[in-house]
Amino acid sequence: MSSSSSASPAYLQIQNVVKDFGGGAVAVNHVSIDIQKGEIFALLGSSGCGKTTLLRMLAGFETPTSGRIILNGQDLAGMPPYARPINMMFQSYALFPHLTVWDNIAFGLRRDGCPKDEVASRVEAMLKLVQLGKYAKRKPHQLSGGQQQRVALARSLAKKPQLLLLDEPLGALDKKLREETQIELVNIIEEVGVTCVMVTHDQEEAMTMASRIAVMSEGQVLQVGAPVDIYETPATRFVADFIGNVNMMDGTLSVDEPDHVVIDCQDCRHLVGHGITGVPGMAVGVALRPEKIQLSADKPEGEFNQVLGKVRDLAYFGAFTVYHLQLPSGQVIKVSESNHTRYRNEPLTWDQEVWASWSPTAQVVLTQ
Ligand code: ATP
Repeated sequence: MSSSSSASPAYLQIQNVVKDFGGGAVAVNHVSIDIQKGEIFALLGSSGCGKTTLLRMLAGFETPTSGRIILNGQDLAGMPPYARPINMMFQSYALFPHLTVWDNIAFGLRRDGCPKDEVASRVEAMLKLVQLGKYAKRKPHQLSGGQQQRVALARSLAKKPQLLLLDEPLGALDKKLREETQIELVNIIEEVGVTCVMVTHDQEEAMTMASRIAVMSEGQVLQVGAPVDIYETPATRFVADFIGNVNMMDGTLSVDEPDHVVIDCQDCRHLVGHGITGVPGMAVGVALRPEKIQLSADKPEGEFNQVLGKVRDLAYFGAFTVYHLQLPSGQVIKVSESNHTRYRNEPLTWDQEVWASWSPTAQVVLTQ
């Protein structure tokens, strides 16, 4: 989904937003993002990048130093959190321990003076949605972590917000439960159709749950795109490194003709079939994902996109094995190979020499 492809303004517009707490670094530094109705959008970045501050500005807990936030055509400036058609689910869930599941979900509706019948029908609908009907009379401490998370989600959705904000939604769950819950959460959010902005530092979580991701660093957005775009065509070294594993080889552009770009690195010559123009002598980085490299005992044909390495380490992960190959310069690259065939038949061993090769389209050339 691309914001520029739609003629009408985006459902949520974050326009040139700045948050300066004073005292040095700017927490959010001129961020502009368009989010479409029904999207699950992730703000992804490591600790301190400004993602939570941005989310808190959407909720109204922080005021932008400058810039505008427009939701469904309405400028949110000056509107207090309780008046915004927005609900935020916190990492800690913030469930009331002394209230039952039913009363936790009903809480916001009752506070807003919603008629009794309406409260009952909304709570029942929410319980059904998150499949916790049987647990309505329990207190939060009588539920598992995953169930508590679903109660918090039900409570956030009960008031039918126009925008749902999730702050590290699965941070409190252990890895296995987190993976199961990611899919459940997406299914529920999509069923309701609510537009959702989530904050996470976990790239797998962002990739699994979000339709699009904004990768943030030091208060700025480095790239916005669908998970596949961000992984396959990262815009900068930071993004390439932050999302998944990557081997980064530094080199110089030596020949630059359309459809025949050559980059010389210390250990190998890269032939890049597409996409980059520059001046010979220019310093560039070549990003290569570990699973896009093939290993072979025999030298591949030609002179480009190949290097002879020595196995220095290997880690067996069941479905695949990650080999650490030391190249002639001393640089170590990672190669991830499916265990579909090799592992049983001809496992590679420590110190063994092996050719690594890759296709021209497997590499991404980065100039920043
Ligand atoms: P985390 O994942 O650790 O929550 P984050 O990426 O969400 O980090 P923010 O919490 O948005 O980052 O913080 C961004 C920057 O703003 C940090 O340098 C932080 O110290 C600073 N900051 C956040 N809140 C305040 C505040 N109330 N006063 C001063 N500085 C703040």
